[in-house]
Amino acid sequence: MNDLPRHRGMRNKLVKLLIEKGIRDRLVLKAIGTVPRHLFIDSSFEDFAYQDRAFPIGADQTISHPYTVAFQSEKMKLKEGDKVLEVGTGSGYQAAVLVAMGIKVYSIERQKELFDFSKMMLSKMDYKLNQVFGDGYIGWPQYAPFDGIIVTAGAPYIPKPLLAQLKIGARLVIPVGDKEQRMKVITRNSEDDFSVEDHGDFRFVPMLQKRNS
Ligand code: SAH
Repeated sequence: MNDLPRHRGMRNKLVKLLIEKGIRDRLVLKAIGTVPRHLFIDSSFEDFAYQDRAFPIGADQTISHPYTVAFQSEKMKLKEGDKVLEVGTGSGYQAAVLVAMGIKVYSIERQKELFDFSKMMLSKMDYKLNQVFGDGYIGWPQYAPFDGIIVTAGAPYIPKPLLAQLKIGARLVIPVGDKEQRMKVITRNSEDDFSVEDHGDFRFVPMLQKRNS
């Protein structure tokens, strides 16, 4: 499968839709305008790849809605060259959007099948990042602290190790809740002072403990 002018046309429309829905971050909009989302999902969904929809990506998981990807990326308030931890690589689409924003990306996936698939796809498309097959509840301490942390699965609670791996002034963007989630943005104001904002309802597949072969 290739990236053709008609895909670029559909991406431009998607970017317009995201602007209408309130996304403003220019780095985010530019990245979504360049990353070929149709290559991260099954080819049978190709014609719908640039609609604001979620799709199955195997192993009972889903690629997030483009609006959700844009919203979470924007809420980290990143600049080029920042270092970000992603929990839940899944298809690799969100990670590719961050790389296209000029971010140094560290991404964790607990399902071997998705880890292998995303690693293959991202390197084939020449997106350069660091990926590990592991458990996002413990983060990636070797590369901490991060300028932003994004969790792309519904977390039952806020994992403490992720808070500890934020730089001062950095944000953790995480959907918290069991069946439905509230999008929380937690800012580390100082070593031990954190503030929490609530950004409403979202739906994610659950964040599960331990890696799974
Ligand atoms: N960011 C992904 C969304 C994938 S859905 C994308 O753009 O496609 C959520 C992903 O989180 C799934 O792949 C799931 O396997 C993974 N996940 C769930 N619990 C996890 C954990 N504890 N650590 C790492 N990844 C986890």
